[in-house]
Amino acid sequence: MNTVMNYLRSLFLFELLRGLSLTARYLWRKPFTLEYPEEKAPVSPRFRGLHALRRYPNGEERCIACKLCEAVCPALAITIEAEPRDDGSRRTTRYDIDLFKCIYCGFCEESCPVDAIVETRVYEYHFEQRGEQIMTKQRLLEIGDQYEQQIAADRQAQATVR
Ligand code: SF4
Ligand code: SF4
Repeated sequence: MNTVMNYLRSLFLFELLRGLSLTARYLWRKPFTLEYPEEKAPVSPRFRGLHALRRYPNGEERCIACKLCEAVCPALAITIEAEPRDDGSRRTTRYDIDLFKCIYCGFCEESCPVDAIVETRVYEYHFEQRGEQIMTKQRLLEIGDQYEQQIAADRQAQATVR
């Protein structure tokens, strides 16, 4: 019986017609795919992308060199060196994140008591030279300055959800 059914199915191209009907059903539906990079998918405010170091509105850097982020980082991607300033405050003299080691777990930003190190929504970046994957303090601060408005809005949105 099975042999006869299989014969009839192949004779009338049953599988082919089934496949074509499936194609026809999806032909006029809204596509699931996006034409990246022209079209972009929405990004959550909790997205863990490129890191940034933030400043206070008066321009002072937030980081107080407590090294909690360095201690908590499971990938040992963060390297911090610090010295006291003349005014007695403690600030980093070196803050590096090796993005080749980073696993984007977000522990660093969760551990930071002053909201200094954050992960932004930025996911479009690349490296062309050896060593560019090391995000230095200067570069992290620049990213923080560039995206501060969005970072602040995202953190506000997260606080509202909590
Ligand atoms: S996101 Fe995770 S792995 Fe990356 S630097 Fe922060 S703590 Fe380390
Ligand atoms: S970024 Fe935050 S957790 Fe890391 S050293 Fe600075 S203040 Fe401490």
